[in-house]
Amino acid sequence: MEQERRVVTVVREFLAEKQYDAIIVSSWQNVYYCSSFTGYGDALLLITKDKKFIITDSRYYVQAEKQSGDYELVKAGAWDRGAVADLILRENIKKVAYEDLAVLYTMYVNFFEKLGVELFGVGDLFLRSRVIKTPEEIAKVEAACDLASAALERTFKYIKAGITEIELAARLEYEMRKAGADKPSFDTIIASGVRGSMPHGTASTKVIEEGDGVTIDFGAFCDGMCSDMTRTVFVGEPSAEMRKIYEIVKEAQQTAIDGYKPGMKGKDMDKLARDVIAGYGYGEYFGHSLGHGVGIDVHEGVPVSQRGEQVLEKGMIFSVEPGIYVPGLGGVRIEDLVTIGDNGKLRMITKAPVRDLLVF
Ligand code: ZN
Ligand code: ZN
Repeated sequence: MEQERRVVTVVREFLAEKQYDAIIVSSWQNVYYCSSFTGYGDALLLITKDKKFIITDSRYYVQAEKQSGDYELVKAGAWDRGAVADLILRENIKKVAYEDLAVLYTMYVNFFEKLGVELFGVGDLFLRSRVIKTPEEIAKVEAACDLASAALERTFKYIKAGITEIELAARLEYEMRKAGADKPSFDTIIASGVRGSMPHGTASTKVIEEGDGVTIDFGAFCDGMCSDMTRTVFVGEPSAEMRKIYEIVKEAQQTAIDGYKPGMKGKDMDKLARDVIAGYGYGEYFGHSLGHGVGIDVHEGVPVSQRGEQVLEKGMIFSVEPGIYVPGLGGVRIEDLVTIGDNGKLRMITKAPVRDLLVF
C-alpha cells in the first residue's frame, strides 16, 4: 500500500508537470505496480489528478475490491472503448498519457486513437521508477530467491545421467510451485553438454549424459516479483577444460562483486568481470552483458553491460552473471542477484546454494 501510494504520487507529479488530465495504465506490469491487481492483462487503470479508476469485468470484481480497494471500480471490459470513452467524457478529460512503450499498434489505432482525446506517450516514466525498489519490493525478491534456491537444492538429487532436460525442468518447477511460487519467472533454461554453449537454450528432450555440464537458469515469480539465478553443475567428472572454464567464470563473478564501488556505472562493473575472462583468453566466448535489472519483469532496466552508462544506485536489484560458451564444447554461467543498499554498499540477494563446482 505504501508503495502504491508512492507510485501514484510519481504519476500525479508527472501529470502536473506535463499538464495532462489523466493517464491510462494498460500493461499488466504497471497495472500491478500501481494497484496490486493481479488479474494480469484484464484491467486498465485511469488515474487523474484526484481520482483513480480500475476498469475490469465481472470475473474480477471481488478480486479488484480486495486488491485495489482504493480504486473506484468501473464495471466494464478493460478494452471496452465505449465505457472508457464515457468515463473520459464524464470526468472532462482532454489530455491523456498512455504507455507508448507497451501499447501495440493495433490497440493504439483501435482503442486509444478513437477515445477522442489528445494522446501523449509516458516514455520511460514507469521504468525509471521501477528500477529503484522499495524495501518491501526488495524483501519480495529476496523471498522469491530463497524459495528458488531451496527448490534447486531439492532438485539436486534428480540430476543424473538418463534424465532429460525437460524432466529436470519440470521437477525444478514443481518444487518451486510446491513451495508457493505463482509460476516460473520465465521458461526454465536447462542446457546440458554441448547445448551448454547456447546461453538461452530452453530445456529440450535431450538426455543428460555422463560428463555433461548442466546449466540451469531459472526463477520463481512470487507475489508479483521475479527471482533469477543460474548454476552450472556436472554429471560425472568434467573435462579439464570445462573445469578450468568453471573456475574462470566463478572468479569473474567474484571479482565483479568484490570490485564494486559506490558511484560505479553498469559498464564499469561489466568490465571487471569481462577483463578476468579476457585475461584467460576466453573474451570472445562471453557474448552477453554481465547483468540486468530484475523486478516485476525478469529483465527490467539497469544495463550492466559494455554500454551501461547508468550509475548503479541504492535500491536497484540486478544480476551478476558472467558466462563462457564454447561451441562444440559446452558452457558455464553463474548468476546471482545483488542490490545496492545503504551507504552504496552492494549486498547479495541470492543466498546460494554453493557457487563451488558441483559434481553429481
Ligand atoms: Zn537467469
Ligand atoms: Zn539473468
